[in-house]
Amino acid sequence: MIKRVEVNYRGIFQKNLGKYIGSDIVMIASRMGKIAFSNGRYSDSPERNGIPCKYFAFVSPDLSEEELEAECGAKMDIDEADVSLVMDDTMVKGVEPWGWHGVRPINEKVHQKGCLLVVTRKSHDHLLKFIARRPFNYRLATLEGDASLAGLWVFKDDLTRERSLGAIAAVDPGIISIEAVEEYLFAKTKEKHRAQAAREAYDATLRRIKLVTPEQGIDWPYEIPVLPKWHEFEEGGVVVPAVPRGFKMGPKGQTRNDMFKRGTTKTERPVVRFDLCIKCTLCWLECPDECFDPTEDGLYDINYEVCVGCHKCAAVCPIPECIVMVDELKFEDNSSPWKHHIRDPQGYIQWAEEKKGKKRIHYPYVTGTGMEYRDGEVVPPKEKKRRRRATREADGAH
Ligand code: SF4
Ligand code: SF4
Repeated sequence: MIKRVEVNYRGIFQKNLGKYIGSDIVMIASRMGKIAFSNGRYSDSPERNGIPCKYFAFVSPDLSEEELEAECGAKMDIDEADVSLVMDDTMVKGVEPWGWHGVRPINEKVHQKGCLLVVTRKSHDHLLKFIARRPFNYRLATLEGDASLAGLWVFKDDLTRERSLGAIAAVDPGIISIEAVEEYLFAKTKEKHRAQAAREAYDATLRRIKLVTPEQGIDWPYEIPVLPKWHEFEEGGVVVPAVPRGFKMGPKGQTRNDMFKRGTTKTERPVVRFDLCIKCTLCWLECPDECFDPTEDGLYDINYEVCVGCHKCAAVCPIPECIVMVDELKFEDNSSPWKHHIRDPQGYIQWAEEKKGKKRIHYPYVTGTGMEYRDGEVVPPKEKKRRRRATREADGAH
């Protein structure tokens, strides 16, 4: 028998976290007398910021090391998962396989007795607004928490690692038991609070498991992609067709590759108050993924299918509250915000402010130290004109 765990994580930001969880499962299972190994091969190379990636852990109580390796070691992906752990809840909107071959459902690998385990503060029903229907019952469990940023150089030690191990033990004790998790964590670190965090997560997760029926979830809006076979690879791995030359759409000659959308990379998306925009062009110029499209009225629409949620437009926009980053799970489609603004300017402002809410996420400059929430401001629709007039009058006075 083989138990398979996949750890879905955001490329680079959570790479350390995903890798540690995979290797911890191996260490714990081997202390329980099982054979196990871990690998991670489901990502771009070099791995890109935010891209959905996977680590795997395989555990067997009865196979030899060679048999387990032969069965699981030579594949690019797994066929089914006993536990699919999701380290960032916005990945429930779908994940890309490496090299961009389309968007796959996050629960695609979860089998009938398996469990989709999501680190989130959302309810099961909220998550199911984005998750594909399956033709059988399966379990959906949640582990309360935020998308932990492991960081490039700094590992944020917020106990998500320990808590995830406790949650895995809760949803499938056949992989690792909570007693073995506690024993391993204490033996490794000599810190009681780590074992305690795993136990608390174990208890909490047992209370947060829901049986999902075939009626629950959504019809998957994307075609399920088929990955190329090993003999279909081009040199260097999976090659993404290059952007054709000569077509220029951006101020720096940017182009956009229809094969290479990166929408599932984002945890947050920018919401623009077009009525506050002063048409300074900075978002258009600075967006690293060429997401902005100039409009006939001099504004800049956003293509959310290609936006990776990098925050740069929000950082460069000179007008406070004009571009604000908002939790991706507040949106159910990628429709054009500018068209909404043209159709119904007042309604759009109301919609944008509702999405923005009262709090703004603020990231400090030191990677891995977490984030904080600050109060935002609701700028009234006429405010831009008033501020401009005030500036002109102040200039005239000099
Ligand atoms: S967050 Fe802004 S700058 Fe970054 S990819 Fe999206 S639109 Fe472009
Ligand atoms: S950066 Fe802000 S003000 Fe400038 S064009 Fe973009 S949305 Fe408008």
